[in-house]
Amino acid sequence: MPRRHRPKVRAVLLCPHCRSHEIDRDVTLFTGSTYTCRRCGYKGTFVLEEELPDALEMSGP
Ligand SMILES: [Zn+2]
Repeated sequence: MPRRHRPKVRAVLLCPHCRSHEIDRDVTLFTGSTYTCRRCGYKGTFVLEEELPDALEMSGP
């Protein structure tokens, strides 16, 4: 019998201004990665990361 799944965590990006998860990531040649918040319009190279347990994910295979 397989054991219970180990609690995997998954990092999601959080806007440092409004804490929205709606972050778009752009990769550019000059600055590397920049992030844009679709909710408040924040743009920058710094965003927060939050780790979510994978168990919250509802989508199956
Ligand atoms: Zn925002």
